[in-house]
Amino acid sequence: MTSASDDRPPVSVHRERPRARTLVVAILVLAGLTVWRLSSGVGDDAHEFVGATMGTTWSVRVDADLSADERARVQAVIEERLDRVNGLMSTYDTASELSRFNRHASTEPFPASAELLEVLALARDVSERSGGAFDVTVGPLVEAWGFGPGGGLEGRLGPKPDGAMLARLREHVGYQKVLLDAASGTVSKTVPDVAVDLSAIAKGYGVEQVAIGLRELGLASFLVEVGGELKAVGTTRGGRPWRVGIERPDDREPGVWGTVDLTDEAIATSGDYRNYYEEDGVRYAHIIDPRIGVPMRMRGASVSVVHPDAAVADAWATALSVLGPDDGYAVAVREELAVLFVEPSAGSFRSLVTVWLDDRFAGLEASR
Ligand code: AMP
Ligand code: MG
Repeated sequence: MTSASDDRPPVSVHRERPRARTLVVAILVLAGLTVWRLSSGVGDDAHEFVGATMGTTWSVRVDADLSADERARVQAVIEERLDRVNGLMSTYDTASELSRFNRHASTEPFPASAELLEVLALARDVSERSGGAFDVTVGPLVEAWGFGPGGGLEGRLGPKPDGAMLARLREHVGYQKVLLDAASGTVSKTVPDVAVDLSAIAKGYGVEQVAIGLRELGLASFLVEVGGELKAVGTTRGGRPWRVGIERPDDREPGVWGTVDLTDEAIATSGDYRNYYEEDGVRYAHIIDPRIGVPMRMRGASVSVVHPDAAVADAWATALSVLGPDDGYAVAVREELAVLFVEPSAGSFRSLVTVWLDDRFAGLEASR
């Protein structure tokens, strides 16, 4: 997609959009996914559920015999759980709890739901452990660079942020500016204009919430996916781990780069290759380096994190994308995280895997 205006050079924009993909091993291809679910000996009698939430799609696969009534119940539970997360954490829904908190231009404590407090606490932990690479207060920067709710498909609405504007915005950015008080159930801002963007963690949290809801229904074997972040619960009917595919980080030539086997674990992937725009020959990705206030330049790379908790995996995948394969790898090792970095290399890609993922990752394209 391209656009031109009087005072700006043409900006070409690439946003996630549904594409048809055919792969030898893929049995199910979902629009806009960063993770493919692959054949793992499951029968065709598994039940599929799909829908839309948080500006993206979700899908659930349940390996169980379900009656029509049970199917309807499963669909309802999934939608209830996701609607609740969306109603609390969406920055696109102006009535959400998070949007209200963002409009709360005050340092007075703001009463927050247990869920919002939980996600903010998880986010804070990853911020501290990643040296600020993960930071949910990047909202104003996301917006200024054209990736927020106000940004159109043509990228930024205003001029490119200059040094003075970035300095001004950064006065409101910094995870330390959001204070949690679990005892009183409140969250407060140290400066009134702080805004929080949970886009890098809320999808993973939604996955966890759906998994909790389905477990409560007595289900023990299912896959939950929201916007490419995925959790595999139990095993397949054949008693094997769920096998998921990891996409090659190439929007021109998509395919499966490798597979990971999962049981009671989540996988989240962040990358700079799906959501970016190009201006003056520079491709700006949707992930901001909060330490400098500037979007990452697109390189065609991705980071996948496997963790028992999908929200944690989601946050770390974003954090490690910011840190990159050198610093990020060192942090992943320090934190004992199961991580795959897929990096551009000599016209193709190379994999960098931490030891905690080593035995479960299988590269399919090692020679490409
Ligand atoms: P993800 O796709 O999970 O990596 O999340 C990316 C989204 O999170 C972006 O579209 C922004 O809304 C937001 N975001 C961008 N940079 C950061 C960051 N460094 N820390 C936390 N959230 C971010
Ligand atoms: Mg993320």
